[in-house]
Amino acid sequence: MIDSMEKKVLVLNLDHSPVAIVTVQKALVLTILQKATSLANFDYLRIRTIDREFFYPAVIRLYEYKNIPYRGVMLNRANLYKRDNFSCQYCGSKKNLTIDHVLPKSKGGKTTWTNLATACHRCNTLKGDKTPEQAGMKLFALPFRPTLSYFLVEYAERHAEEWIPFLQVRSV
Ligand SMILES: [Zn+2]
Repeated sequence: MIDSMEKKVLVLNLDHSPVAIVTVQKALVLTILQKATSLANFDYLRIRTIDREFFYPAVIRLYEYKNIPYRGVMLNRANLYKRDNFSCQYCGSKKNLTIDHVLPKSKGGKTTWTNLATACHRCNTLKGDKTPEQAGMKLFALPFRPTLSYFLVEYAERHAEEWIPFLQVRSV
């Protein structure tokens, strides 16, 4: 097999929600075993074996519903910054970024998607151990828990436009 083997394939659940990103080899195995069907191909790519030629799948959908409670995005520093577009949620600065507990830990604030916001060092220091209201500061947007789709759109725009019709941006 040749041709851009590094392209990734989007796997959708039976209800069309994204469940995974897999290699093309894995996607082909799933379709050959009839566990999934191809919904879109990378039209400009082909996979050739000695005697056959296959379309290169871009999006496949499982034939059976997989019960996956929450396929979210892992909460970590990089993903949090990404959600917040690498900018301080109080002043917009893109420098010296830190993580702010909106409701401070000392007041029972949890380390969760909905209580964390990207803040520059200056704003974080200004805010200190206060809530935004107490500090007289305002968040640009309420922190939310991003879905897998939310993050996939960014990837798709750069590497896999074929995925875009299958991705919905929404938060939970
Ligand atoms: Zn700031």
